[in-house]
Amino acid sequence: MSDHVLVINAGSSSLKYSLIDAGSGEALADGLIERIGESESHQKHRGPDGEAESSDAIGSHEDALRAALDAFETHGPSLDDLELAAVGHRVVHGGSKFSKPTLIDDALVAEVTELVPLAPLHNPANLEGIKVARRMFPDLPQVAVFDTAFHQTLPPHAYTYAVPSEWLEEHGIRRYGFHGTSYSFVSGQAARELGRDLSDLNLIVLHLGNGCSVSAVRGGRSVETSMGMTPLEGLVMGTRSGDLDPAVHGHLVRELGWSVDEIDKALNSKAGLKGLAGENDFRELSRLRDSGDANAQLAFDVYCHRIKKYVGAYYAVLGTVDAIVFTAGVGQNSADVRAVALEGLERLGIRLDPVRNADPAEDGVVSTDDSGVAVLVVPTNEEWEIARQAVDLVRG
Ligand code: ADP
Repeated sequence: MSDHVLVINAGSSSLKYSLIDAGSGEALADGLIERIGESESHQKHRGPDGEAESSDAIGSHEDALRAALDAFETHGPSLDDLELAAVGHRVVHGGSKFSKPTLIDDALVAEVTELVPLAPLHNPANLEGIKVARRMFPDLPQVAVFDTAFHQTLPPHAYTYAVPSEWLEEHGIRRYGFHGTSYSFVSGQAARELGRDLSDLNLIVLHLGNGCSVSAVRGGRSVETSMGMTPLEGLVMGTRSGDLDPAVHGHLVRELGWSVDEIDKALNSKAGLKGLAGENDFRELSRLRDSGDANAQLAFDVYCHRIKKYVGAYYAVLGTVDAIVFTAGVGQNSADVRAVALEGLERLGIRLDPVRNADPAEDGVVSTDDSGVAVLVVPTNEEWEIARQAVDLVRG
């Protein structure tokens, strides 16, 4: 039986896909279709023969998946020859119900639909991807892998907000946490790099991409995480504010007459680095900072300060820390963020090696040999993790 999994990540106007060998992690092909439903869409497919692009209008997710399958047929590799083991779907919100990857059937679709109020921006798009893939691959097992699942091990004192208890009981208002697929992958990789058993390790893992979050992972299980009921809470992100005094919402309503939707949109799409410096892409922000832009410098400082606060807090939660692990676009690539966020923490046993940090070697270690806490850079690979979890599930 093959280990090939088609991994699908459906967004509101996009469809991302990868064909992964779950054994080796090799991506045999991947692609992205953006601006679905607009007059001009953008499709990119990378296969064995290189990259192909087009800008034909693609009206729906169904058309997008069909266009992706056409690209496999034209540019390879042939899905018929490869024989897929499963289709793996990234699903953002699994609520309190899903702590594991789950085979998709009508009941699962109904349950994920029930969770839409908790993730109105994400789950409907994920469901759309599931529906079209089920229609196109009716005979293949399809597996939902939830971003929240890894954090279902949070203890009640970590996931409970101090609000009237019926808010949780009746409306599911609690911390769920996200980026779980990345945490699962990166924690395992970090243990391998350290030559230790994951079950013996206390890790602080920082996923710093467009979205940013941090988790305290004890023995491979998440015990704290910075994102909450939605991915808005916690660290400063590209376009999201992260932590904010909840009273700001009332102030915006009373003083500025804003609607709930306006507030949601501002805090999710116009805040964070973009709100502070007009730029959410970290590379652009760094260029602005290098050119002496004061807003970019402040945005960088706020971003790193927030990370440092969380590192201190999660150190306290864990008691002892074996390693701090940086991953995702910013975490893997910005030596500045790693250096500034961890500056002055020598008394906690955290010592970065400036030479290693500037250009991490294969093993990812960027701390000094005498650092009590190892600091690692570990590339994430959520697609591989989804493929692995899907194959493990269908093989039983
Ligand atoms: P996503 O959350 O969408 O998966 P990524 O993990 O790809 O995001 O991270 C995207 C972020 O990483 C962007 O802000 C991008 O500017 C930043 N990034 C990518 N490469 C670098 C780099 N070499 N230096 C600094 N930041 C980088």
